[in-house]
Amino acid sequence: MSAPLLSTHGLQARYGDFQALFGIDFHVAAGEVVALIGANGAGKSTLLRSLTGLLPVARPMVQLGGEAIGGLPAHEIVRRGLAMVPEGRRLFTGMSVEDNLRVAIDQAKTLALRAAADAWTLERLYALFPILRDKRRTPVESLSGGQQQMVAIGRALLLQPRVLLCDELSLGLAPKVVREIHAALPQITAAGTAIVLVEQDVGLAQHSSQRLYCMLEGRITLQGASAAVTREAIAQAYFGGS
Ligand code: ATP
Repeated sequence: MSAPLLSTHGLQARYGDFQALFGIDFHVAAGEVVALIGANGAGKSTLLRSLTGLLPVARPMVQLGGEAIGGLPAHEIVRRGLAMVPEGRRLFTGMSVEDNLRVAIDQAKTLALRAAADAWTLERLYALFPILRDKRRTPVESLSGGQQQMVAIGRALLLQPRVLLCDELSLGLAPKVVREIHAALPQITAAGTAIVLVEQDVGLAQHSSQRLYCMLEGRITLQGASAAVTREAIAQAYFGGS
């Protein structure tokens, strides 16, 4: 296996007295799509929050490109190459598609992100999701849910991530647009960006990823090649019991 790009090592996380993660060992390699599945409350969002600096964790517990980043301020973690497509998309309403995207471009400038030759630009994004070019002057609240999700992905990509973290991309969207969005993932990973996909739809998670992890009550209960794990193994890891 190539060296992991992003990894966690015995990751623990708490909300006050409540321990939400118990020793998570997780990794994703460059260019890989890894899915994270599990029932409500399993700890998937908490894992994402721990990775992105929204929840304080010990420095060595999260590593990006061999560098310990656990607990760094969220903007430092973005600067080092982690960007998130948040659940619920959180776009700026009252602003057009392109203005929403320009906010991310400005943020990238503020963070002095390195401009690589293959950096994401508006042009490259519009090639990935052509509908966004057609709708570039449209206020985001007038878009369909799927189109809004494309804007949210675009905004994260303009932060030039080495790892893109996606929280429930498919939530509340029609199957057709979900397929369209998932079909774009290989174009994102082609240049080496890794994707972590938190997904409620197990079939979709399995189809779109090379490997998957299942979580239950703050622990990883299954990991393996997505094409190889059986429905029975997933059901047991998802619901627990023997
Ligand atoms: P969902 O699919 O519902 O988002 P999840 O797998 O992402 O579920 P988390 O949201 O990470 O699960 O929740 C993990 C545990 O941490 C749950 O027991 C939840 O109640 C608890 N939890 C989550 N956020 C907080 C918080 N802000 N304060 C206290 N406990 C929390």
